[in-house]
Amino acid sequence: MKYHKPEVYISKEKIAEKVKQLGEEITDHYKGQSLVVVSITNGALIFAADLIRAIDLPLQLDSIMMASYAGTQSSGKVQIRSELKLQLEGQHVLVVDEILDTGRTLHNVKEIFSEMNPASLKFCVLLDKPECRKVDIQADYAGFEIPDEFVIGYGLDYNEFYRNLPYIGIYKPD
Ligand code: 5GP
Ligand code: MG
Repeated sequence: MKYHKPEVYISKEKIAEKVKQLGEEITDHYKGQSLVVVSITNGALIFAADLIRAIDLPLQLDSIMMASYAGTQSSGKVQIRSELKLQLEGQHVLVVDEILDTGRTLHNVKEIFSEMNPASLKFCVLLDKPECRKVDIQADYAGFEIPDEFVIGYGLDYNEFYRNLPYIGIYKPD
């Protein structure tokens, strides 16, 4: 595989500004309550790390591993590859993912988590590709709407590379 650093599509400054704004909205919404944040790793690792530090609430963090992509194509099958450590029953739960694409991942998570009887269940994504939706699901908090492009950086990978780019770029195969 050739390693090309992409051009900047969303700069690290724009991301930081958006994360701050999302953190403030979430803090306002849950004021006086505590929150369980569940990040979907590996992709949401970096976004979740920044987002939770922008949320000023008593908060517990857990993560779950899901996978649906091979290369730049969604496989259509979403698999859960790890279990939660925290109990969700009676808790306000905020699921954090880096990008909402076909919607299969969050749709699946919603079905599974709803059965655990949380007090509430909401979804926060940094990026949303509404054109790509295959199942009916929306994020309660979404940072940027983007067109149907395969993006990398800030946690988003191509075959596990590029997650460490501090900005978001569009992956161009050569
Ligand atoms: P969905 O289940 O909504 O189709 O996809 C969600 C997951 O697919 C995301 O959490 C992410 O891991 C992966 N994904 C979707 N679109 C992109 C993209 O443009 N770039 C990368 N790197 N991953 C994506
Ligand atoms: Mg992901």
